[in-house]
Amino acid sequence: MNPPLKETIRCPGCGGSQDVTVWGRIDVADNPDLKSNLLDGGLGRDKCRACGHLIEIRHDLLYHDSEKHLAIWLRHLDDESVLGVVDLPTIVDESLSDDYVRRIVHSYQELVEKVRIVDAGLDDFEVELIKLIICIREQIDIASPFLFGSLRKSLMGGPSIVFAQPGQSSAGDKIYPLQGLRTTMVGVVDKLKQFSQDDDPWPNVNREFVLKRLCDAGLMKRME
Ligand SMILES: [Zn+2]
Repeated sequence: MNPPLKETIRCPGCGGSQDVTVWGRIDVADNPDLKSNLLDGGLGRDKCRACGHLIEIRHDLLYHDSEKHLAIWLRHLDDESVLGVVDLPTIVDESLSDDYVRRIVHSYQELVEKVRIVDAGLDDFEVELIKLIICIREQIDIASPFLFGSLRKSLMGGPSIVFAQPGQSSAGDKIYPLQGLRTTMVGVVDKLKQFSQDDDPWPNVNREFVLKRLCDAGLMKRME
């Protein structure tokens, strides 16, 4: 397990600075508390000890779950204001076995979303396809945040899938019966996954990624 780094952050509220602990790597098996911290947002912010302002902490990290054979690399696209950058070679050198699911994400929110999807027992490719279908139907920009929240069980009719649209004025969960969505895409996930023999060892599986698969497979035409 890699020891955490100490970094100094500056508070945009009062200009003061303070030290924070930055985890470059989360090994869930060794430190389940860190996972809880991650999921409730605690690793992405720190409260200013002088003025109480919530300071955003941006840092790259590797999320590693040895039980689920899952590795998610949070890599911010802009290196500015990113603390404790983890470089890919050190991750690959850990030689994760071939059956690992590897993903890259570019924001803290997406990392939390991926973990939630796996914890709910869902396949992220399928969830991204569902998101894409919903966004096309409801004319939601596929680049805008649309995040998996949870699976909600109901007494009748099977589970529903819950999404959130952070930053929207009409905030609130969007809830869809999972079975209905699955009916509209029978066979599609398996078919697309045959096209997913990607050279990229760390794919960013999002709506754009799934859309590209659909187009490559001839199941959809991209509207330019
Ligand atoms: Zn402050």
